[in-house]
Amino acid sequence: MHAQPMNDALTLHTLDVEAIRNDFPILKQESDPRLIYLDSAATSQTPDCVVNAMDEYYRTYNANIHRGIYRISEEATARYEEARKKIARFINARRSSQIVFTRNTTESINLVAYSWGSANIREGDEILVTVMEHHSNLLPWQLLAQRTGAKLRFIEITEEGLLQLDDLDRLLTERTRIVAMTHVSNVLGTINPIQDITAAAHAVGAKVLIDAAQSVPHLPVDVQQMDCDFLAFSGHKMCGPTGIGVLYGKLDLLEEMPPFLVGGSTIRSVQREHSIYADPPAKFEAGTPSIAEAIGLGAAVDYLRKVGLEAIYAHEHELLEYAHQKLSDIEGLTIYGPKPRQKTGAISLNLDGIHPHDLAGVLDVSGVAIRAGHHCAQPLMQQYDVIATARASFYLYNTLEEIDRLYDGLLTAKKIFTRRRR
Ligand code: PMP
Repeated sequence: MHAQPMNDALTLHTLDVEAIRNDFPILKQESDPRLIYLDSAATSQTPDCVVNAMDEYYRTYNANIHRGIYRISEEATARYEEARKKIARFINARRSSQIVFTRNTTESINLVAYSWGSANIREGDEILVTVMEHHSNLLPWQLLAQRTGAKLRFIEITEEGLLQLDDLDRLLTERTRIVAMTHVSNVLGTINPIQDITAAAHAVGAKVLIDAAQSVPHLPVDVQQMDCDFLAFSGHKMCGPTGIGVLYGKLDLLEEMPPFLVGGSTIRSVQREHSIYADPPAKFEAGTPSIAEAIGLGAAVDYLRKVGLEAIYAHEHELLEYAHQKLSDIEGLTIYGPKPRQKTGAISLNLDGIHPHDLAGVLDVSGVAIRAGHHCAQPLMQQYDVIATARASFYLYNTLEEIDRLYDGLLTAKKIFTRRRR
């Protein structure tokens, strides 16, 4: 028997979670033990509607896009472009041409660092990032800095895992060309105050790139309200497939930027020695794109809109409140990051004397899937003086009962490893 949720006041009321779970085939699989999936920050599960949209493409209109003068190619093109429009509406972009399809967040950020970066960053310029960045929003800027002689500067964090913004005035100078930062930390779940930082960055003439891999899936994101210059996210963390990501950019910037990868689809005309490139987004979508995956992401966006991002955010908030409250009575447990009201999605922790990989291994025996490691955020690990943490992350399909199973698993791990040490 598993413990009942300990606090009646926290009974979930924002979403019909049972109905939602019914949309996800993997969550309905018979297995012993039953799968408790607490790793959506790494990749989310996929609802039937997304699998069906991709299946329909392969079964009924599989063809390359933008070139074929025949029915199924025209249908594939229309559905691919329809997906782009859905994504533009989802993040409130003014025009669908501001949506560039990439493979993932990592590729979107590399595209900007290489293309915009090479055209705009010079020796002595400064690139401002934070210590809580995923490596995907750090390494492309490190390479750019090494190539150009620019300098990387860092916004530090408080012990609680919030950005130290009293430093911002000192860090943002007329040398700052771009601020590249995460909206939500993949380790701590911290939600950063993007609008304030964007306003301050623009006041010194710097551009702003937002890594929205952990925010677009979990809370309403409005690029016009944020006023960011670039925004990057991945399909596979928002109920969509792998192999598809998005780069949003302000149109004048996308127009000015040189292409990143070049080849088929990116051009207006090609001569022997030089070429004229197409307008965005085509300029940045070299070669045959991930057609089925883009269509699948369009279906995922329809699904998330139907459930409602406000409701998803509220649901995760309740899960986090419950998890913080329940887990904090385990002796020797450290939770990293801020209180639930300042975060979303994830809870990172360590149990005294037990390696996070061992914790994840014990939890797996009872079907609970969590992640353990440095979460591609080594500078953040260094800040907390740990090599790794265990991270449980939540999404629209998780329940309070699953958090009880996490709690039970942590207690089991504690028993096993305490016994071994005696
Ligand atoms: N940024 C953040 C904040 C992330 O959480 C992740 C995925 N863990 C990435 C970037 C990279 O995403 P992808 O692997 O889909 O490119």
